[in-house]
Amino acid sequence: MRAIVVGAGVAGLTAARDMHRAGLEVLVIEARDRIGGRTWTADVGGVPVDLGGSWIHGPFGNPLSAEVEAAGWDWKNDGSWGMGLSVFIEGQGWAPAHVASSLVATQADFDGDEATAALGDDASYSAAAEWYVEDRRLSGDARRVARFGIEWLEAGLNIGGLPEVASVSGCACYHLHPGGNAVISGGYIRLVDSLADGLEIQTGSPVLSVEHGAEVIVSTERGSHRADRVVVAVPLTIIQRGAILFDPPLPRYQLAASRLAMASLEKVVFRFDDHFWPDHGRRMTFVSDDRRFPTWIDMSHHTGAPTLVAFYNPKATPGLTDRPLDERARMALGVLKTMLPRCPDPVAVRCTDWLNDQLALGSYSYVPIGATPNDMRTLGTPASNALFFAGEHTVPESFGTVHGAYVSGRRAAAAVLA
Ligand SMILES: Cc1cc2nc3c(=O)[nH]c(=O)nc-3n(C[C@H](O)[C@H](O)[C@H](O)COP(=O)(O)OP(=O)(O)OC[C@H]3O[C@@H](n4cnc5c(N)ncnc54)[C@H](O)[C@@H]3O)c2cc1C
Repeated sequence: MRAIVVGAGVAGLTAARDMHRAGLEVLVIEARDRIGGRTWTADVGGVPVDLGGSWIHGPFGNPLSAEVEAAGWDWKNDGSWGMGLSVFIEGQGWAPAHVASSLVATQADFDGDEATAALGDDASYSAAAEWYVEDRRLSGDARRVARFGIEWLEAGLNIGGLPEVASVSGCACYHLHPGGNAVISGGYIRLVDSLADGLEIQTGSPVLSVEHGAEVIVSTERGSHRADRVVVAVPLTIIQRGAILFDPPLPRYQLAASRLAMASLEKVVFRFDDHFWPDHGRRMTFVSDDRRFPTWIDMSHHTGAPTLVAFYNPKATPGLTDRPLDERARMALGVLKTMLPRCPDPVAVRCTDWLNDQLALGSYSYVPIGATPNDMRTLGTPASNALFFAGEHTVPESFGTVHGAYVSGRRAAAAVLA
């Protein structure tokens, strides 16, 4: 039997690897000139840095952990996000420990199901943040940073949406594996390369259409390929825009896709000559009225060189999406110098731009108000005996993650083989 996989991200490569192992003849067709999709380990100032996904969120019970262990790769665990977190409030300076603790406590304590029970199914993260600080009777700076944490760190960065748009009940379907957050030494490229090992992959070939009748015909600008089965593993936004023409059309899938949303998380990577920051610079939150560059994480122990990464949602700060990347890098450095005035100039800087990447148009999917996790389930359902789907946006329990993509690929391959 011959199968085609469209998209060489973790979802597509996992599906292809499993089918290939089971003896199918498999061709992977990828639009980019590289494989890995939204995982992308790149060289920044001579060291490997993950510009897309970097952590295995919750390695205990995480399906990716078995891959890592079987391959024998080394990995380092950063623990939970709150560990060693320092908070800087613009205009005030470093917040006292009890204020930083209230942010950490909020991150551990805020529960989507509890907020939904209090506010109903249509609650946004903005409403939930307001409810939470009232319910927990927080005041002063503790109230301000707790609210900032729910709106701009949980909704704005972790979910990657705008707090007035992201649905608390919809996103509560995410299942958080325990065990902190781990990074594979050398980056996610090791997983990608291992999944791709031995596969036939055609890169630089955007798929234009998929005919799925008695036979599958997948067409690209370079020609058409015939097969018995096809797994389509492209991002949500590709389905939303109708960038691949399905024949017969898939109105149910189009409707489900149109209800869901794509997040926008970006990184600015700074590589320095010296590890100049003090211990409290390992994880910093910058609280400001315009929400620019709120999270900073020391990645030096992963890259092997002094490296700080700013995480931000460009849509959270008015006017930021219109600014060129070099200007954003300067703004981010300004934030860093505000927090750590002895900060020298970096030796290398790299900004991501997933939002304008035409093969991603954002970072990962989430459930906005008006959609439900069932929309993600619909997008993961086989359309026929010949057409199957994978991608992080098809797994409501782990949407927005590499392990979600991996699970979806395994599920699609199992369905094809069944
Ligand atoms: C900045 C950032 C940080 C992140 N951090 C983390 C993290 O720390 N941990 C975590 O678990 N997850 C993280 N994620 C999310 C994670 O990277 C993604 O959920 C996951 O990689 C998605 O995999 P996928 O295979 O579903 O999609 P993709 O990786 O996007 O793969 C889809 C592939 O389809 C290709 N394609 C698109 N259109 C076509 C076409 N017409 N024809 C052929 N090919 C096409 C694309 O080029 C792409 O290669 C992060 C993402 C970003 C952007």
